[in-house]
Amino acid sequence: MQEDTIAAIATAIGEGSVGIVRVSGEMAQSIGEKLVRTPSGRPLRLARRTMRYGHVVQPGSDDPLDEAIVLWMPGPHSYTGEDVLELQVHGGVHVLQSVLAACLAAGARMAEPGEFTKRAFLNGRMDLSQAEAVIDLIRAKTEFAGKMALRQVEGRFGDEVRSIRKELLALQAHVEVTIDYPEHDVEDVACQQVLTVGEQLLGRIDQLIASAALGRVLREGVATAIVGRPNVGKSSLLNALLQRERAIVTDIPGTTRDVLEEYINLRGIPLRLMDTAGIRETEDVVEQIGVVRSRQSMADAELVLLVYDGSQPLTDDDWALERETAKMRRIVVVNKADQGVRRDTQAWIEGLVARGVVYLSAKTGEGIDALADRVIDVIEQEIAMDMDASYMANARQTQLLQLAKQDLSSAMDSAAAGATLDLIAVALQSAYAQLGYAIGEEAGEDLLDEIFSRFCLGK
Ligand code: GDP
Ligand code: ZN
Repeated sequence: MQEDTIAAIATAIGEGSVGIVRVSGEMAQSIGEKLVRTPSGRPLRLARRTMRYGHVVQPGSDDPLDEAIVLWMPGPHSYTGEDVLELQVHGGVHVLQSVLAACLAAGARMAEPGEFTKRAFLNGRMDLSQAEAVIDLIRAKTEFAGKMALRQVEGRFGDEVRSIRKELLALQAHVEVTIDYPEHDVEDVACQQVLTVGEQLLGRIDQLIASAALGRVLREGVATAIVGRPNVGKSSLLNALLQRERAIVTDIPGTTRDVLEEYINLRGIPLRLMDTAGIRETEDVVEQIGVVRSRQSMADAELVLLVYDGSQPLTDDDWALERETAKMRRIVVVNKADQGVRRDTQAWIEGLVARGVVYLSAKTGEGIDALADRVIDVIEQEIAMDMDASYMANARQTQLLQLAKQDLSSAMDSAAAGATLDLIAVALQSAYAQLGYAIGEEAGEDLLDEIFSRFCLGK
């Protein structure tokens, strides 16, 4: 248990009509008793895990600051594991700050960012991967990302790492015990064991690492490049998707010279849309730079929207782009359908792309919903399902998993080469420790401070 009692505003200021001031620590109860009154002005009795209605008053006076719903959660069965008091008041900045000030006047101290979750961790209420998932949850820009982060709060990543560690420990124990035996065949059995079990564990670590890619996608948005030769309507399509005017739309080919990025929330999935300069052969130096950048963002993209102008005959640039994107995850879009689609253009495109061509008009908005459906399908079926979404290691964890993998591989190399068992044991122990850091077991104080300072205030 920490000595002092902390308080903070737990909801983002200005969001929603209700705000929460959260208090955690030994004084939470006495602070609640000092600050909350019944509507008729009598002291309010706090009831365990029960919502109570009352008035928050300035300590020492009976001037009501606001109406409040009071939630009392005595430790250890609370978020932090300590006594927790939550005051739900009206969400205005002024009200929230005056209620927080009242808590501080009644004896609490202002919480540092992430301090509530740090206490939860220190009191054994969650492992480090769960705590970090809380950070991601707070930061998750959209529902889908939030849902994925939630699964990690439930602890699957931690469970899998713990299970791998358990096997590593058993393996290490096997090796350590064998060190004292002089017989060679006993040593050989241990080495063989390191090789077979090691192989399995490497596979499981790899799977955890693969899951990080999805986590990143969800945090940063699915990188989606809109490509096509100049004037097919890429910027207009971006605007139609954004449903607001952002990119410059002109009649002069080659004006979108730089890559413009916009984030959209497509039915709960974050997309990082990149409007690229039109890709075509050109003598203009400035435009060439734009073309280089476009190719770069096309190469980085997880999804390509390849746009054609259905009202025009196809050009060499259209041909070239089709070939260039053929191996990428792409959706072919035929724009300007409002002007009618040319037969030859349609036949050519459908000859190349058997299914899934989306006809739309960026100008009228017709077909935009169908494109959104396609994008969601591709992401859910091809991007998200590639990986088991329930683990989602973050960048720090991925690094540690890589280190654990190196240690385990070197233990296996030593075993294969018939090196001394001591050497193998040391490598196994190191792999065990790296995995421990990933879930916060054996974590040093510095690391904890580093991690928890990334939190928003009040969490
Ligand atoms: P980009 O160079 O590929 O980014 O193309 P723009 O978005 O700048 O559009 C080029 C021209 O095509 C502009 O005059 C747009 O108004 C026009 N345009 C774009 N989309 C459509 C569409 O769906 N229908 C029609 N009729 N015109 C469009
Ligand atoms: Zn453009």
